Amino acid sequence: MAPPPAALLLPALAALLAAPAAARAPPRSIAVVGAGLGGSAVAYFLQQHFGPQVQLDVYEPAGVGGRLATVTVNKQQYESRGASIHALSLHMQDFVKILGLKHRREVAGKSAIFSGEHFVLEETDWYLLNLFRLWWHYGISFLRLQMWVEEVMEKFMRIYKYQAHGYAFSSLEELLRSLGGDAFVNMTQRSVAESLLEVGVTQRFVDDVIAAVLRSSYGQSVLVPAFAEGRALYQVHYEGSEGQGSAFYDMVVVTTPLHPSRSNFTFENFEPPIADFPGAFQPSVTSVVHGYLNSSYFGFPDPKLFPFASILTTDTPNLFFNAMDNICPVNISAAFRRKQPQEAAVWRVLSQQLLDKQQLKTLFRSYYSVQVTEWQAYPRYDAAKSLPPIVLHENLFYLSGVEWVASSMEMIAVAAKNVALLAYNRWHQDLEKIDQKDLMHKVKTEL
Ligand SMILES: Cc1cc2nc3c(=O)[nH]c(=O)nc-3n(C[C@H](O)[C@H](O)[C@H](O)COP(=O)(O)OP(=O)(O)OC[C@H]3O[C@@H](n4cnc5c(N)ncnc54)[C@H](O)[C@@H]3O)c2cc1C
Repeated sequence: MAPPPAALLLPALAALLAAPAAARAPPRSIAVVGAGLGGSAVAYFLQQHFGPQVQLDVYEPAGVGGRLATVTVNKQQYESRGASIHALSLHMQDFVKILGLKHRREVAGKSAIFSGEHFVLEETDWYLLNLFRLWWHYGISFLRLQMWVEEVMEKFMRIYKYQAHGYAFSSLEELLRSLGGDAFVNMTQRSVAESLLEVGVTQRFVDDVIAAVLRSSYGQSVLVPAFAEGRALYQVHYEGSEGQGSAFYDMVVVTTPLHPSRSNFTFENFEPPIADFPGAFQPSVTSVVHGYLNSSYFGFPDPKLFPFASILTTDTPNLFFNAMDNICPVNISAAFRRKQPQEAAVWRVLSQQLLDKQQLKTLFRSYYSVQVTEWQAYPRYDAAKSLPPIVLHENLFYLSGVEWVASSMEMIAVAAKNVALLAYNRWHQDLEKIDQKDLMHKVKTEL
């Protein structure tokens, strides 16, 4: 595992002898560039498909994990980046089992949406009252949203069946089309707001609720697209603390974004040339603050009465943060309880820019520590772009393009499984298993 970072890649020998499909030996060696979730998952799936005899090298300049990481406060670890996994994220749930991890107990905590001046929506302890408030403010928009999400999820879940039967897709468009037809492909070209308004959700619900949820997860406005969800040898050159080196591979998977604002990876001597893909990444800042919340700023002069553990925000000019959460450590005991609002607690604040002293003082009466991570967090979804390719060259694959459909752990895991299946099916010339139409019907009749 993990020689130093890969710097550039060249195809050394094109089209060596191809063995007949059935008798073809597995590749001798495969390189995976990047060891975030995508690189780790694709390495796992490739080994699963090609077998343990294939040598797999993973190139990573930083630690394993990429955009999944923790920070330590008072000897306890807290998730500073990607943290939540949906119960229906089947690949991620599998990883949890395979790695012997435990689900963390839910610690109750209420949410509210802040406009910069007041809360536009507040969760209460009573389910029926919450429903009533949603209905009172937004009519049946929340029901329409729920129905839309369920329909999208139901179609998305088809991918697990296809993958269980070994089917793969050579482009993101083919993958999306197989799940939900052209409507799914079109969803990457239009905003969430457009899709929701079309199914009857009101503009007010979009402005108050959907914008707040998206600002907390993507740090962007409601303009994100509606899913935000023969033989060549390649030479990998790398450079690290011990100097430079290079190695040859039958197959390479790149799992780090190839966009001007992120890429530190180049391709040489490819015909046609492979360059970065258009599109930029959204800068984002996470500040993990251990301190006392300034509840007065939120309209609660008595800190004991502040009821929320999670504060989302509307898209208000000059509001300097996107969301903040009172976070719990990674490992919590059965006796763990959330801190009282007047006690010092650990808060994760998401913002577009670095918070200055004055802004920190606005949110916190006082604090013991602030740990800041600045990064290019997600694609900027503000302009419709064509989706990046998966196949860059014969046995050279690109995984991270899926982030332009949606940037989430499960999306990356689905793409990792797809790349492993695609690499395997292409290697063995099993073309029946690539880009097949009418797959729902096929998988039913295969059973
Ligand atoms: C603040 C935040 C909160 C999030 N919350 C959630 C959440 O709650 N739920 C969810 O599902 N998703 C969440 N996400 C999204 C999720 O974290 C990402 O989709 C996922 O971790 C991306 O994994 P990746 O492997 O594709 O990319 P990365 O994790 O970025 O991995 C790429 C790796 O490539 C390495 N690399 C770069 N250049 C080179 C090179 N030249 N050679 C070799 N290696 C290189 C990098 O060091 C990095 O380790 C969140 C993201 C952020 C930023």
